[in-house]
Amino acid sequence: MDKLAHFRYCNYHPNSNKADIIVDSPAAAKNADNLPVGDLHMHTHYSDGFFSPKEVVYKAKKIGLSVIAITDHDSVNGINEAIEAGVACNINVIPGIELSAMYGEREVHILGYFINHRSPELNEYLKFFRAERVKRAREMVRRLNNLKIPVAFDSIMQNAEGRSIGRPHIAAAVLETGSVKSYLEVFHKYIGFGCPAYVEKYRLEVNDAVAMISKAGGLSFIAHPESIRDTTNDTVLFEVIKTGVDGIETIHPSLNKQKSMYYRGIAQEYYLLESGGSDFHGGKRGDEDHIGRYGIPLEYIDAMQTRLVA
Ligand SMILES: [Zn+2]
Ligand SMILES: [Zn+2]
Repeated sequence: MDKLAHFRYCNYHPNSNKADIIVDSPAAAKNADNLPVGDLHMHTHYSDGFFSPKEVVYKAKKIGLSVIAITDHDSVNGINEAIEAGVACNINVIPGIELSAMYGEREVHILGYFINHRSPELNEYLKFFRAERVKRAREMVRRLNNLKIPVAFDSIMQNAEGRSIGRPHIAAAVLETGSVKSYLEVFHKYIGFGCPAYVEKYRLEVNDAVAMISKAGGLSFIAHPESIRDTTNDTVLFEVIKTGVDGIETIHPSLNKQKSMYYRGIAQEYYLLESGGSDFHGGKRGDEDHIGRYGIPLEYIDAMQTRLVA
């Protein structure tokens, strides 16, 4: 495992301009120099992020981070570029992914870290998943056309610019036809769950997602746990923990200090690892200032590496 060996010998102390650093979040972890160390949740234009992997790496460098993970949705296509950029500017890039999985009726995002992004099995699945998305979009367009909505599959594909195609792209195209007044109306009337042009998504079960990450040599984490929390209980969270995940993302923009502490407590109780990051996407989301604010300490990453070699 030479990648891991390389990572272990790296220098974690960033040498950046302190004036650029944003560390005002109560959840942000900092090292001895009062700098956040790692951001293990970042997206690029290989999924729904705005920037290229290289640009994301440079942004992290500017903030003063020393370790990041590129975790695109259901894609590992940005990882090589990010690693290369990381080598050039002395940032460690952990190969990651954010898999969309299902537990019952809940969509659960599972983060994978230290994966072998060249794993044939993983790549085979991602290829299949992309093809399924295209098939689903094509069927939704066919149903919309039957409903006399004049959207064209080819132009939707073009607008998606190679990103994984989904309902947002279709909604934007329907809105453009003038048949509806708003983007949300497209969901309410046509492509929302149970609506006439809605088509079921391919289901990846959480335990299969966890197994896939593990087979690719990585560790799996429940992303932004608040998203699977019921208002009354944490049943889904505990069920997902039982599938054998390695950890929970305890630092994330969706978690205030109190919630972050709550999930930290659960992680400790169940001997789970912790992770965290900004879930940076860029562009219209205006989340640029999240980079560095949701940093994690070196200890979290050390604990992951210990688990990997155990
Ligand atoms: Zn997510
Ligand atoms: Zn994400």
